[in-house]
Amino acid sequence: MSSKIQAVRGTQDMLGVEADRFHAVVAAFDRVRRLYGFQRVEVPMFEPTQVFARSLGETTDVVSKEMYSFEDKGGDSLTLRPEFTAGIARAYISNGWQQHAPLKVAAWGAAFRYERPQKGRFRQFHQLDAEIIGAAEPAADAELIAFAAQLLAELGLADRVTLQLNTLGDAATRAAWRGALVAHFEAHRADLSEESRARLDKNPLRILDSKERQDRPIADAAPAIDDYLSAEASDFFAAVTAGLDAAGVAWTRNARLVRGLDYYRHTAFEFVTDDLGAQGTVLAGGRYDGLIENMGGPGTPAVGWAAGIERLAMLIDEPRGEGPTVALVLESDELNYVGIRLASALRRIQISCEVVSGGSIKKRFDKAKKLDPDYVFTMNDHLLASNQIASLRIKLISSQRKSSHLFDSKIEMMLDENFKVRRPLGSLTSGSDIGLFDKAEH
Ligand code: ATP
Ligand code: MG
Repeated sequence: MSSKIQAVRGTQDMLGVEADRFHAVVAAFDRVRRLYGFQRVEVPMFEPTQVFARSLGETTDVVSKEMYSFEDKGGDSLTLRPEFTAGIARAYISNGWQQHAPLKVAAWGAAFRYERPQKGRFRQFHQLDAEIIGAAEPAADAELIAFAAQLLAELGLADRVTLQLNTLGDAATRAAWRGALVAHFEAHRADLSEESRARLDKNPLRILDSKERQDRPIADAAPAIDDYLSAEASDFFAAVTAGLDAAGVAWTRNARLVRGLDYYRHTAFEFVTDDLGAQGTVLAGGRYDGLIENMGGPGTPAVGWAAGIERLAMLIDEPRGEGPTVALVLESDELNYVGIRLASALRRIQISCEVVSGGSIKKRFDKAKKLDPDYVFTMNDHLLASNQIASLRIKLISSQRKSSHLFDSKIEMMLDENFKVRRPLGSLTSGSDIGLFDKAEH
């Protein structure tokens, strides 16, 4: 006996509501990015391994442990994208997009990281991504973050996330701060976790956001960046926060916040929630002025963010489809075709309709109730007059529809267009019987 075929660990299959949640996040993203003037951009799902190795930095967790890299049949080393920024930066360089700078772009899709799967952490996950490339001014940071904040607000998450903001300073600031951090951590080397001891030599900033318990007191006592901020870096940060205040975006300072990737400068931020356990960061980003130059392109300031679609999808309320919805119960199998005719006419006027037939009448009504529609339409052939093709009863189920009056007139017009209805227009009320005749009949 062969065992049941399995999905790859850390991948997901989504059905119905779960997939609806996912796409509600994507739909909101696509709506809000237009409000902020971000163009869509599409980049490949895989790139030469160098694109990620060089841009993310060899010492980061992503590059050292998490990349899905493989050799293709031509012997080239390729990597499935672990994030979007590097691929977009590569595209910017390859295509000479600096002619469009400043370039505001948005993308979403799958990303791949070899991580230990758990709640909110997958090996194939999905990200929303927004970047402003070729803009050096702090107003760009503020606009980019305001976009994120509005997206989260439109997803109904304004009260469930907090914007944590920090500055990593300019190159001079960062170098001075890094020196102070190394001195501090060296003094406590023996008490650090093994992982942080390794970071001390390669990427000491990362010790600050270590999740190891033994590292926390040492990290919390580390020197703060504020003592090392150059006047320029300090002015930049002040302009970003002033921009956020002007945009009405609430923020809190988190002086311990660093980004995992080496190329960040100035602004670093995360929107975090308490509602997802250890996977509390739903959206994260910052300024990466050095990246494109590092990758062999022209010196290009840029700022961006990425968000995990699954983490957002878990937080939002269950999305409701756009109403109204109808369950059309056919009480007789003779009515199958006139049922199709009515259902099609409803769908053409943007009313979603599910036809319920088959099984006992009771079963049909139970099934209709389960669909939880706004209206139940019942079609029967009990009281047919001559030339009548069906008798229809319309019942309003949901009292939540604000526009039921408007809806009635829409149905009224639809019935009139598709059937001959012997009753005065405007007389449609919930529960009344309506005789349907063929258009051709007199
Ligand atoms: P974490 O600390 O959770 O590992 P990260 O710093 O590696 O996050 P980024 O590289 O900044 O994450 O990616 C941006 C966002 O993508 C994260 O804030 C998170 O919402 C999401 N994300 C990252 N890795 C995963 C994953 N393996 N599964 C699901 N979502 C993820
Ligand atoms: Mg990670």
